[in-house]
Amino acid sequence: MRNKCVVGLDIGGTYCRMGLVDRMNRLYHPYICNTMDLNGDKNFVNGLMAFIKSYINLHEKEYEIQAISMGFPSTIDHERKVVLSTPNIEGLDNVSIVDLYEEEFKIPVYINRDVNMLMYHDLEELKIPKGGVTLGFYIGTGFGNAIYINGEILLGKHGVAGELGHIPVIGNKKKCSCGNEGCIEAVAAGRYLEELCKTKFPETNIKDIYVKHGDAPEIIEQIEYLSIPIASEINIFDPHHIILGGGILQMEGFPRKLLEEFVVKHTRKPYPAYGLNFLYTLDEQENGIIGAGIYGHHRLTVANNKCYLATAD
Ligand SMILES: [Zn+2]
Repeated sequence: MRNKCVVGLDIGGTYCRMGLVDRMNRLYHPYICNTMDLNGDKNFVNGLMAFIKSYINLHEKEYEIQAISMGFPSTIDHERKVVLSTPNIEGLDNVSIVDLYEEEFKIPVYINRDVNMLMYHDLEELKIPKGGVTLGFYIGTGFGNAIYINGEILLGKHGVAGELGHIPVIGNKKKCSCGNEGCIEAVAAGRYLEELCKTKFPETNIKDIYVKHGDAPEIIEQIEYLSIPIASEINIFDPHHIILGGGILQMEGFPRKLLEEFVVKHTRKPYPAYGLNFLYTLDEQENGIIGAGIYGHHRLTVANNKCYLATAD
C-alpha cells in the first residue's frame, strides 16, 4: 500500500520549499527552488502550478497524494480560499488559488498564512496541549505572529488576525512593507537590523552583529522594540505558552535573556508578567513544509468527519 501523504509547500519571498508529509509528520523528498524562477512567464500562479505538477508526477507512483497544502507570506481570506495580499511576490494579490488549483489537480487544496503553518509545526513539536492560549512570535525579515486559543488558530473577521508587526509606534516615521508608516516591524525585525548593520556597523557582517555589538545602545534599543509587540499581546491574552522563533532569534549571540527581561518589564505585574513560559523553536528550513503537511492532514480529517456525520444523518 502506498503511504498517504499531503504535498506541503512553504512559499517565501526568496525560496519555495516543497515536500511530502505523512500522517506521522514525517517528511519525504524535500525540494527547494528560487521563488523568482516560478515567475518565468510573468505569471506566478501558473509557474507554481507547473512546479507542483512536475513534483507530483515524480512521486505519485510511490505515494498516495491526498491533498496540497500551501503556506504563503500573505494575508489570506477567512474562508481560506483566496490569497489577498503578498507584498514580496508579484502576481499574488486577490488570487482564488484554491478554486484554480482544485480544478486542475482534482484533489483538495488548502492554504494558510506561512506563520500559521510554522505554528502548526511547533504545536506538535513542542507537544503543546489543545486547551488554553499559546502565542507564537516569529521574527525574521518581518515580524510574524499567530494566536492559538482552545485548539484553534484565531482568524478574525477577514481571516487576517495576528498582524502584530503592524502596530504603530509614536514617533516612528519609517515606511513599512505593508504601506503604512510607523509599524513596529520597521524598527524591530530583520529588515531594520540589516539597515542598522549597514549604517552603524559597516565593517561587521550581519551574522556577527549580536556577537560583536550586543552591548551597543542601538542593539539594546532594537531588542526593546522587539519586546513591545510581544509584551502587548501577552498583556491582552495572559498566555499559557509563548513560542519564540524565526531567523533573528537563532542568530549567534542573540540576547534571549535581555529580550525576556524587556518583555517582563513591559508586562503587567504581578500577572501575566510572573512565570511567563517562553519556549524557543529551532528554525529548521523544513518546519514550514511539515507545518503545511500537518494542516493539510488536519483539514482532511475534518472534511472526512463531516462526510461521516452527513451520512449518519
Ligand atoms: Zn506595516
